[in-house]
Amino acid sequence: MSRSGASRARARVAAGLPRYTEEEAQLRRQQARVRADRAKEQLTAELTALKLQRGCADCGYRAHAEALDFDHLPGAVKIAGVTRMVSERRSRDAVMAEVAKCEVVCANCHRVRTATRRVPLQNAEAAPLSR
Ligand SMILES: [Zn+2]
Repeated sequence: MSRSGASRARARVAAGLPRYTEEEAQLRRQQARVRADRAKEQLTAELTALKLQRGCADCGYRAHAEALDFDHLPGAVKIAGVTRMVSERRSRDAVMAEVAKCEVVCANCHRVRTATRRVPLQNAEAAPLSR
């Protein structure tokens, strides 16, 4: 007699045993890791394509996605950096909601933006942003 996995699990729980055997639990954890890795790879690829498609909002640079950042716009409520959220395996929806609060800028323009925002009065005359 071959019973389904769910039926076996119910029988084990009814007998006061853990839902899954140690082998089943191990396999399920491994499968979950594989799924999570695949989802992270897909999301990273999607974000890379998005960066290259948009390019730097300030100077237009778009040669390497690694040199492009997601810059949270002033006034946006920042949950976390987009890359950090991806590495923390946050959901695609959560990551894309964060991306929506950002502009893509190259690393150089991002630094200039950040410095200008920190001391807006000092830098406003010395180095205005190009946009
Ligand atoms: Zn730039």
